[in-house]
Amino acid sequence: MLPWILILGIYLWLQRRMMGNIAGGPGGATGGLLAGRFSKPSPTHEQITFDDVAGQDQAKKEVAELVEFLREPERFERVGAEVPHGVLLVGPPGTGKTLLAKALAGEANVPFFSTSGSEFIEIFVGVGAGRVRKMFEAARKAAPSIIFIDELDSIGRTRGTGLGGGHDEREQTLNQILAELDGFAGREAVVVLAATNRPDVLDPALLRPGRFDRHVTLHLPDKTARRAILEIHSRNMPLENTGDLHTMATGTPGFSGADLKNLLNEAAINAARREGDLITHGDLAEARDKVMMGTVRSLAIRPEEKHRLAVHEAGHTAAAYFKPQADPLYKVTIIPRGHALGGTHMLPEAERHTLDEDYLRGQLVTLLAGRAAEKLLVGTVSSGADDDIRRATELARSMVARWGMTEDLGPIDLRQSEDHPFLGQSIAQPRDHADATASQVDAAVIALLKEAERKASEVLAEHQAQVELLVASLEARETLDFDEIRHCLDPEGKVTPLKRPHLGLDKIPPVG
Ligand code: ADP
Ligand code: MG
Ligand code: ZN
Repeated sequence: MLPWILILGIYLWLQRRMMGNIAGGPGGATGGLLAGRFSKPSPTHEQITFDDVAGQDQAKKEVAELVEFLREPERFERVGAEVPHGVLLVGPPGTGKTLLAKALAGEANVPFFSTSGSEFIEIFVGVGAGRVRKMFEAARKAAPSIIFIDELDSIGRTRGTGLGGGHDEREQTLNQILAELDGFAGREAVVVLAATNRPDVLDPALLRPGRFDRHVTLHLPDKTARRAILEIHSRNMPLENTGDLHTMATGTPGFSGADLKNLLNEAAINAARREGDLITHGDLAEARDKVMMGTVRSLAIRPEEKHRLAVHEAGHTAAAYFKPQADPLYKVTIIPRGHALGGTHMLPEAERHTLDEDYLRGQLVTLLAGRAAEKLLVGTVSSGADDDIRRATELARSMVARWGMTEDLGPIDLRQSEDHPFLGQSIAQPRDHADATASQVDAAVIALLKEAERKASEVLAEHQAQVELLVASLEARETLDFDEIRHCLDPEGKVTPLKRPHLGLDKIPPVG
């Protein structure tokens, strides 16, 4: 008898809860659930301040300005300025958007309501909207205050596409946010801060003036900022030589703040595994390789396969060595890691922001040289060039169809499709150029690739003896650094006598 009463009791309780939710409306027995999980403003234990955010000076300044808006609205009102209500933090993943918001919470000294977009999504339609209403109500009561909505794209996606999961609940929640943003009277001292790494998928209604019209962009850190980020996160780490941080910062273009933090953590784990007391340069270098390419795999590789692999990598390496436009080499390896069987690592000397034509053509040659070397020294080609061909084709297509780098087509955008993995909007993009133009693009791409392959074969044939030497020492040693590469390819140092790269990693993933 007793179990039955229990089951019935639980059933009734669940049903009441559900009914309550659907009926909506704050307060009453369901108020707790509706109130949701936005964190109540409370003194945080670990105070994060702007000092914990390295670089991103512009973003920091703009966000800090919000605090002034809230503290002295009169100053802005005097000249007729309205307090901005919606501020959107935009930037690639791991650049510190959430961190910056937390720092603002630490610095602002006003109530800070923080939540994440996904927390509004429930099975029951209307619950999220109710939660939004509650949160804005609470923030208004506590004004001046700040509301932070992380990962805004999870609710704020373009409505009505029906693709990527049409979701009534999400639309209602979004509508509620729009209504709340409009509901602010001009002077109300509540600022809504939101973060996203996909501003392109946001509903245009969210971005119009009066809503999230202020955009603060966060960028991937440059060298100085990377150094500062490494310093912040290694504060409590026993480094053998703090100069290593400088080397690491130089060698990690393209890494985000989160990547750098991860790198340091991996290095510390390496040190602990060795049972060492200090984190050495070796630990850091190994961590960097791991963050870039994954862990070392032990594969049983047949000797013929290993020979082919060495030939392939030596091809990439030699092409990069003998082409003056290519990025300086850093090392070459045939130790399998992550998905790659081997890798030729190059290290740009300075950060590139644009890519010129010569450089790109050189890049095509380097990419196709692995395959060319197999042809030259083994006699046949293999499936090992899969990724090289994919990357080379992609690059060549961009050169033709986006950057106008062929004479007969000229500067015209002939892209086939844009990748919007989550966006319904442009999934079925009609091609707006003629079939004839499309085949011209294909022909131009093929010509670029053939030309690059020819050049790769040429340069390898010209230096065949040295390349064979490189293959042999790569097979014997498995990893060669720049000096060892030069020793094989160019013992007298005629080609690149003084170009000694720093230790580091390349932004362009290693050619595999
Ligand atoms: P997102 O932009 O994806 O929200 P986060 O703010 O969550 O990125 O960053 C993840 C982690 O990376 C942070 O917790 C922090 O440790 C580190 N990080 C990212 N950017 C920076 C930065 N500019 N300065 C210091 N640490 C950073
Ligand atoms: Mg985040
Ligand atoms: Zn390759």
